[in-house]
Amino acid sequence: MKQKFGYLASAKHAEIGERELPELAPNEVLVKQLTCNICTTDYQHWMGLREHQGYPMAGGHEGSGVVEAVGSDVKNIKVGDHVAVNGYVGCALCEACLQGRYSDCVNKPKDRPRTADGYLGSFGFATYAIHKEINMVKMSPDLDPAEAGYLEPVATVCRGMRKLRLEPQETVVVIGAGTMGLVNAQVARTHAARVIVSEIMPKKIETAKAMGFEVIDCNKVDPVEEAMRLTGGVGVDCVIVAVGATKANEQAVQMLKKNDGRVLLFAAGYPVPEIPVDSNVVHYRRIELLGTFGADAQDFAKAAKLLNTRAIDVSKIIEPKRFKLDDFQAAMEAASTPGMYRVCVELN
Ligand SMILES: [Zn+2]
Ligand SMILES: [Zn+2]
Repeated sequence: MKQKFGYLASAKHAEIGERELPELAPNEVLVKQLTCNICTTDYQHWMGLREHQGYPMAGGHEGSGVVEAVGSDVKNIKVGDHVAVNGYVGCALCEACLQGRYSDCVNKPKDRPRTADGYLGSFGFATYAIHKEINMVKMSPDLDPAEAGYLEPVATVCRGMRKLRLEPQETVVVIGAGTMGLVNAQVARTHAARVIVSEIMPKKIETAKAMGFEVIDCNKVDPVEEAMRLTGGVGVDCVIVAVGATKANEQAVQMLKKNDGRVLLFAAGYPVPEIPVDSNVVHYRRIELLGTFGADAQDFAKAAKLLNTRAIDVSKIIEPKRFKLDDFQAAMEAASTPGMYRVCVELN
């Protein structure tokens, strides 16, 4: 079985390769991959911003497909199942992994492993790929494959939501209506909370509105004043910062209610953002500054349910123009254009 795949040969150079797939091991499945969305990490690598991670990089982790064959020991996945990938499963043997806390796995390799023929990555942008059964999550066959590819981003948001402990009577502001800001807003809404999205780019403001969110248009109003006005001068219960920027962190703290407000720091930023708040303010106002990163077993399970039952809708954060695998270079160019939502690469 041959695998045709997209990979990054060097900065700004996406290439198409072909290689023979090995025989299936007993615990593996062969997946005919339908689509893979280009994650921020993928296009930043293409742009040359992640050179330290190395080349050739056959990345891509926001894909989905249909199972074509299963190894002799595979029990829970069968031919014809629609699946997406949970690439966060660790060694599956240590205490943390057994509890589903993959991010705490003690046996994670320090360096990304390379294939025998020298590639990094998990071949997300490939026509066919071999995955371990434990990395497979069943997705609804009715779901657009590009939406099923949202499994991992949604899982990371579910991880953050566990920390945020959002309740139905609460108001949350999501700063930033990029892809992850709007996934956060969608998942926040499933907690029955009032969700307000703050954004400056017109395209993203329109998308947030089309999703039915209250929107603070930062071109027209000061976001802190507007959050105060929208809450009758009280301030908001919590803020999800989905932009890695000092200014956003500052606004988040300023728009909180007087006591017991919570800030979830969802996004990293480069240059590294700061949180300009003095610790007396955190102390007296009992503010919670919460961090989140990654996702665990329960988060992937919840993310699959949210997508499969259509409790959340990610269709508006997939760019309408989709690319064929042969146009991988053009797809990377499109994805790295500022203001884009997920760009989908069609693989089969
Ligand atoms: Zn991703
Ligand atoms: Zn482990």
